[in-house]
Amino acid sequence: MKAVKTTCPYCGVGCGVLAFADGTIKGDPDHPANFGRLCSKGSALGETLDFEGRLLVPQIGKRDASWNEALDLVASKFRDAIDELGPDSVAFYVSGQLLTEDYYVANKLMKGYIGSANIDTNSRLCMASSVAGHKRAFGTDTVPGNYEDLDQADLVVLVGSNLAWCHPILFQRLVAAKAERPNMRVVNIDPRRTATSDLTDLHLAIKPDGDAALFNALLTEIEARGAVNTPYVAAHVTGFDATLTEARVSNPKDCGLTHAEIAEFIDLWIGTEKTVTIYSQGVNQSAVGTDKVNAILNCHLATGRIGRAGMGPFSVTGQPNAMGGREVGGLANMLANHLDLENPAHRNAVQNTWNAPVIADHAGLKAVDLFQACSEGKIKALWVISTNPAVSMPNAAFVSQAIENVPFTVVSDIMADTDTGALADVLLPATGWGEKSGTVTNSERRISRQRPFIAGPEEARPDWQIICDVAKRMGYAEGFNFTSPAQIFDEYAKLSTATEQFGKDFSISGLANLSEEEYDALAPVQWPIKKGQKPQARFFANGRFFHADGKAKMLPITPPRSIDTPYSFRLNSGRIRDQWHTMTRTGKTARLGQHISEPFAEIHPHDAEKIGVSDAALLRISGRNGSAILRVMVTERAQIGSLFAPMHWTSTFSENGRINHAGDSQVDPISGQPALKGAQVTAVAF
Ligand code: SF4
Repeated sequence: MKAVKTTCPYCGVGCGVLAFADGTIKGDPDHPANFGRLCSKGSALGETLDFEGRLLVPQIGKRDASWNEALDLVASKFRDAIDELGPDSVAFYVSGQLLTEDYYVANKLMKGYIGSANIDTNSRLCMASSVAGHKRAFGTDTVPGNYEDLDQADLVVLVGSNLAWCHPILFQRLVAAKAERPNMRVVNIDPRRTATSDLTDLHLAIKPDGDAALFNALLTEIEARGAVNTPYVAAHVTGFDATLTEARVSNPKDCGLTHAEIAEFIDLWIGTEKTVTIYSQGVNQSAVGTDKVNAILNCHLATGRIGRAGMGPFSVTGQPNAMGGREVGGLANMLANHLDLENPAHRNAVQNTWNAPVIADHAGLKAVDLFQACSEGKIKALWVISTNPAVSMPNAAFVSQAIENVPFTVVSDIMADTDTGALADVLLPATGWGEKSGTVTNSERRISRQRPFIAGPEEARPDWQIICDVAKRMGYAEGFNFTSPAQIFDEYAKLSTATEQFGKDFSISGLANLSEEEYDALAPVQWPIKKGQKPQARFFANGRFFHADGKAKMLPITPPRSIDTPYSFRLNSGRIRDQWHTMTRTGKTARLGQHISEPFAEIHPHDAEKIGVSDAALLRISGRNGSAILRVMVTERAQIGSLFAPMHWTSTFSENGRINHAGDSQVDPISGQPALKGAQVTAVAF
């Protein structure tokens, strides 16, 4: 049996997979993201390929319908809303699970044909603060380094990242590098002790959101000890003096660590030139997430430790294609190819290449605002593609009501029975992983092919095709006459050729004009890959940034102040090792359910005693708008005053275990990313 080379559909590590038609799954030894390794989720992919629970045919209301009837209805409802109330009366909410080609046509339809930027994505929940931090510091959304830097670093600092569970293969790579070079040091900065902390040299249990105070203290000491890379800063960085002044007035104790802990971290960081700082959702999912990102970037810029082998800041993305979505402009405040919605020249270039009738000229609604607008009756037609916001959004009960309030909602999904699908007027069956074809981009900017190796349900269609079919019925045949993902990818690559004049970081012009066969055979490749040039492995060592003056910006960061609230706990929601998102795929395999079989809440023994609960008791966690009931896990891994609960369980698996019902809608004001690790809640024995 012949193996098909494809890419894992779960996390942003982007591991290569060898898949066989009988469902056998192996790691791809040739893929540079994983060299043959797979984690528990990846290796169980073969157990998730059956059609049980799949959405098999289009549905209107609760009845089966033909594709023609369903697509006609979707197109006419969107058309009517736009004609009557304008382009901003409709919205798409899409997903980091989409392939880049799916994302590309969805974004093209909304921004270039409908003329609104009301397309946002569940990637807003994942890495929007990193995007905003990158843009503030670098002038564009660039990940400077790559996975090889982990092999070469002498110090790896993991901030707000449970890498061992959430990016397991990257963590294994780190463990292997440390085994080979025992002098390598690994530090974990996280309020909660996790599986990652167990394997690191130093765990720093900072106060939640204490990151900025800690990195401000580091910056102050970098300057005090003469560790500033003065030539690099003078030539390539602005804002150093103002940033340092602000850092000096912030109080290191606000990070919640002892003087000795802070000193140990600072000694290690300053004394180790080859330092990589990895950060993830603990940094991003915060009301001050963008500031925390910039506090980290400030220290790398001040020392010039960026873009060289074994050093640099490194945002690791949660989803398999959050990066691809960023590249095609799948966020409400971005254009394709990292171009700026606010820039008329950028808009013109994209509109001309698309030959589009219009182009959105202002930012659309970001995820939380989008559902708020639904609740206020401002959205008349909504299309949710490949995601389950009725479970995964914070304040999920409110989001469910908001979706119910939209006069016409379409959901495209592979599964028939999801919390969001239950609210839809039309359900459209999509093909899933193993059945569809396209590309994804992982955390190190590496584009890899997802290739089909099994047939999907007879009537299921790829997302790109469904979107194009609706676009054509809306009167946009010319722009959506694609017959294969290769054709979409080719147009996307040619958009790079047309927009390279703006000197942005992103380009795949070197991948234009691939034949169908060449596209199918495309080997994993990092962007940028310009015509006639080799892919670029790292950015910024040469000091050329993407602000108008060619320099990077350091930004003064004021750490957040503690505020008094009537709530007794701070809720930190996150992932567990063996489940993915809302369990639509991982919930199919009993093997993955054996690790942790039900939703739980970690609570510190001190707090457990205070509210009178013990291990295995039930706890009701309540926020402003809803609550969840979870099994108690008493553990010193939790910080006093904090609770941790996994976000995976849906009504299918646990009616009461949907923790995002207790979450609230607080967002980072710069990135719009919800503070999924900072909800204020109460907890009582149930
Ligand atoms: Fe898949 Fe991520 Fe595991 Fe790799 S680390 S096998 S991409 S879930």
